[in-house]
Amino acid sequence: MSILKQLVIVPRLLDVFFPCLCAGCGTPVEASRLFCAECEADLAMVTAPFCQICGCPFTSPQGNEHICGECLQQPPFFKAARSVFIYKEPIKRAIIQFKFLGCTALAELFAKVIITNLDGFIKQIAPDIVIPVPLHLSRLRERGYNQCLLLAKRIARILGIPCKKRTLQKVKPTMSQVGLSLSQRRFNVKGSFTVVDPDAVQGRRILLIDDVFTTGSTVNECAKVLVKAGADGVWVITLARTNNVI
Ligand SMILES: [Zn+2]
Ligand SMILES: [Zn+2]
Repeated sequence: MSILKQLVIVPRLLDVFFPCLCAGCGTPVEASRLFCAECEADLAMVTAPFCQICGCPFTSPQGNEHICGECLQQPPFFKAARSVFIYKEPIKRAIIQFKFLGCTALAELFAKVIITNLDGFIKQIAPDIVIPVPLHLSRLRERGYNQCLLLAKRIARILGIPCKKRTLQKVKPTMSQVGLSLSQRRFNVKGSFTVVDPDAVQGRRILLIDDVFTTGSTVNECAKVLVKAGADGVWVITLARTNNVI
């Protein structure tokens, strides 16, 4: 099923009471669509060829098994990472609304889009559990919700596997990663996550959920502690990734 079809599958009854607005430009849209036709045409999907580990898109044609220099030099702790969209408008605005402006209802549509577009990847992984990238308690209190947990819960429900929301915790508050270099980002998140329930991850194939993949420092730090706690493997899915093409 195409992504365009997926975007319109939500309970129609809601439309009667809550007229829908395009998550990209705010114009009214019919039948619970995520985007208006114009914004939908601007959506940029991650397409092959891309690094088989971190998922970064390549500009020149490469073999299907190609791995980027970054991953060859310093292999990440996660087995592979995949994203549906390139992080630019209009998905960027939709994610900002989801993350910071309380538009939590977007979780349902985002989860469906992820499952539809990364179906082959998820089948290959055959994950046992889903884990969201956690927020530090101070950030959670400030925001009121963890958008990654909302996404992870819906993905887990569709896949019919457990979502372990308390297993991985953020124990050290960190400054925003925005504007930091790769080495600063790595340093910023170092030691900020811990596994509080190793029994829940031991021998498990873990699907780790985040909203945006930028350098992968956050998900790599999460994967590191999960692997150290005995996970069989960690695979990462994010809704979008920045366009650092190689
Ligand atoms: Zn629009
Ligand atoms: Zn790579």
